Amino acid sequence: MGDSAQGMTDSEERNGKGRAQVLSGEPLTEGGAAVAEATEVSLPPQGDGPAVQPGRPPSGVRVSDLEIVKHYFDAACDRIGVPDDVRAVLRSSYRETVVQIPVRFPDGKINVFRGYRVQHNGARGPYKGGLRYHPDVDLDEIRALAMLMTWKTAIVGIPYGGAKGGVNCAGDKLESDQLQAITRSLMDKIDKVLGPNRDIMAPDVGTNAQVMAWLMDEYGKLHGHTPAIVTGKPIGLEGSYGRESATGRGLVYLYREAAPKLGLSPSTTTAVVQGFGNVGSWAARILQQLGVTIIGVSNADGAIRSDAGIDVVKLQESIEQGGKLTDFGGVETIPPDDLVAIPCDVLLPAALGGMIHEGNADRVACKLILQGANSPTTPAADGILRDKGVYVIPDVMANAGGVIVSYFEWVQNMQHFRWEEREINDKLGNIMRRAFREVDTAARQKDLCLRDAAYEVGIERVIDTARTRGYI
Ligand code: NAD
Repeated sequence: MGDSAQGMTDSEERNGKGRAQVLSGEPLTEGGAAVAEATEVSLPPQGDGPAVQPGRPPSGVRVSDLEIVKHYFDAACDRIGVPDDVRAVLRSSYRETVVQIPVRFPDGKINVFRGYRVQHNGARGPYKGGLRYHPDVDLDEIRALAMLMTWKTAIVGIPYGGAKGGVNCAGDKLESDQLQAITRSLMDKIDKVLGPNRDIMAPDVGTNAQVMAWLMDEYGKLHGHTPAIVTGKPIGLEGSYGRESATGRGLVYLYREAAPKLGLSPSTTTAVVQGFGNVGSWAARILQQLGVTIIGVSNADGAIRSDAGIDVVKLQESIEQGGKLTDFGGVETIPPDDLVAIPCDVLLPAALGGMIHEGNADRVACKLILQGANSPTTPAADGILRDKGVYVIPDVMANAGGVIVSYFEWVQNMQHFRWEEREINDKLGNIMRRAFREVDTAARQKDLCLRDAAYEVGIERVIDTARTRGYI
């Protein structure tokens, strides 16, 4: 494909689900006199998880990420005949760490946050997965995202297991000092279960390169300089060229794979992007550089539309300078709920899970959904989209670009050697294309959709490795 998805590089150039309490965390005291004692946290059981009947999509508008991931896991296990005992191992996490993070805010009060690190499965290598700061973060969400990482790393064939972390704080609303205090406190409490050969964190919703730098620094105080303890670091702190844009770029590589199947060419393709953060803004900018016209964009502030095209490079500059998405000139502001209904070729969800659901999937009017976000569609929505003939490239492979370049960053850190960005983008393209072709072949051979085929490929690879090691 001539790698035109390479186009724009990092060097040329980063929430509102439900809850009312913006900063989250629970103020512990009045006047901040009392300090909480560290408490042992009892974990909710993980064995059965939400009551989802295998083969029956969980329904309702609000479906949790865990219901979504377990639904697809169970359905794949049924199809490939995974024995119950093996399924029980893979359905639950290996280790779940939950810690209390009390942080004193400038008003003198201590706010108590909850920090999580879930290590789902390490058969294929060290645990790997992002760290999410969002008020809605809870143990079940982190369990779901950790499990998704296990299949994702297996599907794209990189030597990692699956993990995820989070803190129930609003990463995009807190002051830098508060974020730093939460981040360092989290590392102090979970460092024992991390390590460059044990578990490596990376950015996700509400976290960024700066948060990774604080994590690396705090780990270094405890264990000596260890850049490979986190990925997604700033370039000046042994981060990797191409990491910031990697997830968005990976999505564009897959757009290039799917476009000919759907009769799309970039110069006539229109796209709508839900969520204009790291993933969405990079995917939008690289698509625009290919010639795609971006006609709708949303973020937590609202949604905008212009059938003539939104200049997403200028939009990104405006947001970086402190502008609101909805104040961007020359576009129409629309109700956020209407974004998914804009007629377009490509819909790229890149915000939070479950945003395309039973209640709005029939309004979707695109040919291709490129899933940047994790679990952006519920199983019921997937059924509706399938009936409408929408081609879906699922999260579990579509957004793997981030973890692939995180892998490259980790390799560079272990070798204390830096690769050029073009080399990284080429290698990323090769892995994304190979994964797409393997999953597409499996889908055609078994007459499955890409998501079902991808889950089967991932689960079979993990079981194979776990058996070879003698774990199961
Ligand atoms: P981010 O915090 O940089 O961006 C999230 C964006 O979503 C922000 O623009 C935010 O305003 C927007 N948003 C929040 N609530 C919204 C709503 N109700 N409607 C519309 N937009 C809303 O996060 P990110 O790193 O870009 O991650 C986005 C998604 O991609 C998440 O699901 C994440 O798990 C997934 N993902 C990220 C990476 C990565 O490398 N960063 C890798 C794989 C998957």
